[in-house]
Amino acid sequence: MSFKLADLPYAYDALEPYIDARTMEIHHTKHHAAYTTNLNNLIAGTDAENLTIEKILEGVSKYPVGIRNNGGGFYNHNLFWNFLSPNGGGKPSGELLKAIDTDFGSYDGFKEKFTAAAATRFGSGWAWLVKAGGKLVVTSTPNQDNPLMDIADVKGTPLLALDVWEHAYYLNYQNRRPDYIAAFWNVVNWAEAEKRLKG
Ligand code: MN
Repeated sequence: MSFKLADLPYAYDALEPYIDARTMEIHHTKHHAAYTTNLNNLIAGTDAENLTIEKILEGVSKYPVGIRNNGGGFYNHNLFWNFLSPNGGGKPSGELLKAIDTDFGSYDGFKEKFTAAAATRFGSGWAWLVKAGGKLVVTSTPNQDNPLMDIADVKGTPLLALDVWEHAYYLNYQNRRPDYIAAFWNVVNWAEAEKRLKG
């Protein structure tokens, strides 16, 4: 079995002006594609070849670091494309909003926490909204680590993620990561987060 690079669920220019077409195209066809190819090469002929990506990540400490990096990169970007939408933005609703109010005090309280996690992750990594032990938690991970991994500080179900690697924003925003994070809220796909909460 080998993992496939899925198409984006929208056109490369669909998230403009918040995320530009060139960034999306390079991010998908170069970065995500490379993680996918590298992962397939690394698992070929090993027991990991017969596992789902989730199973590989849940036991990632058993594998060489290349599988951690590229398996994480493959999985995280699969999630990320679906956490963005040209019809996104606004606020969550229903059960998710209720959970956010309960665990963060308010939507604004959540947004502040997630923004801080994304802004203060030093170097390359991700900010996450995770369901962990029945509660919603904001966390961040270095490199391509994620909350499915047995080595993660906070383990749980990812409900939302933001890629804060420079490759995700540098062409349009250069060093202005806070501007990219602010723009993200205009294309965030709450419907996907709500779906994963009910999962
Ligand atoms: Mn990326």
